[in-house]
Amino acid sequence: VHASTTSAGGHGAPRLLAGAGGPCSAMGDRWPRVIFHVDMDAFYASVEQRDDPSLRGRPVVVGGLGPRGVVSTASYEARVFGVKSAIPMVVARERCPQAAFLPGRMSHYVEISRQLRAIFDRYSPSVEPLSLDEAFLDMSGTERLFGPPESTARRLQDEVARELSLPCSVGVATVKYVAKVASDLEKPRGLTVVPPGMERRFLAPLSVERLWGVGPKSLPRLHALGLRTIGDVARASPRLLEEKLGELGRHIASLADGRDARDVDNARERKSVGSERTFDRDIRGAARVREELIPLVDEVTATLRNAGLRARGVRLKLKYADFTLTTRQARLDTPAHDAAAFLVALDRAIERAETDRPMRLVGLAATDLVDDDTPRQENLFDGERARREKLARTLDDVNARFGDGSLRRASSKALGPKNPR
Ligand SMILES: [Mg+2]
Repeated sequence: VHASTTSAGGHGAPRLLAGAGGPCSAMGDRWPRVIFHVDMDAFYASVEQRDDPSLRGRPVVVGGLGPRGVVSTASYEARVFGVKSAIPMVVARERCPQAAFLPGRMSHYVEISRQLRAIFDRYSPSVEPLSLDEAFLDMSGTERLFGPPESTARRLQDEVARELSLPCSVGVATVKYVAKVASDLEKPRGLTVVPPGMERRFLAPLSVERLWGVGPKSLPRLHALGLRTIGDVARASPRLLEEKLGELGRHIASLADGRDARDVDNARERKSVGSERTFDRDIRGAARVREELIPLVDEVTATLRNAGLRARGVRLKLKYADFTLTTRQARLDTPAHDAAAFLVALDRAIERAETDRPMRLVGLAATDLVDDDTPRQENLFDGERARREKLARTLDDVNARFGDGSLRRASSKALGPKNPR
């Protein structure tokens, strides 16, 4: 009764769950909602392999290359050796010394993400990006325009492959949670369709680790209760789950049932755009924090300009050597997406933060985002502002043409107020 067909190659039939009446692929009109979750396969590594043919078929690891660096993406060739996202780079080097280790080219990925978004926008007016390389698309009511969900999903996948020369996987379901789990099951180039009414059956054999909110802390508690699969959770009494696990219990009970009431939120991307850096050696002092923020500010403001957004606020994040975390918020004088305005606000945030303790991480997020065309209150500095923004755009342009980072330090110097050191 489970999967009728499976495809990992991208050219076969999609994985479809079959109901009592046979494959459900023709039941387009019975879908109360149609949600796609599209997720690029090993995004950063795939981009590097696409752009440099000598990397194709080889293990590629993208991430922080210093002693405290962390893997952000491993190609599928590297995953065979146990290299995966979020493991320390030193471990990756031990497991797969023959891999190509690359620092990544963030503004290049941002640009490709923008191209990807343009493809998504052709399919749905309601797109919710979760990160640079994955998004939910609400495809409800598009059957008349595009046909049944699985052929539309296949077409989208082919279009991404043709236009960007990059692989992606798609999950199709009636709710976001199930679509997201589905996109992950047959990677790379997977297409998994969970028709209406099949959610519980689809989820039942999967590990409880696939339930949102279940992490390293709660996993042993679930195991202690004899809950190993999502099916175990679905069969457990909701009262018991809530009694033993509180809010988490209630939450996973409904996910295990395939219930997830959240709509695709096309304003979600507006919430924040951020970047952070973990250091090889702890840093100390306001001046060092500011210095480390400059390239991050460049990255975040380039992302905003690419996305046609401005921020009204900025959040500074500091993680100390003992792993305690602090954040400080500051408002921008007017909605902005240029480095100079960000640094002025960040200086205020830095002043209010404790910076005389050793810190292992510095990060920032642009918050309270608005459209680029939001009318702004004009002020005396608008002439100066326009000049700075034009310069920032020119730098984005040059970086896009000549590769990331070619002008990064230069742009930091050109745009940032004087270095306080
Ligand atoms: Mg991905």
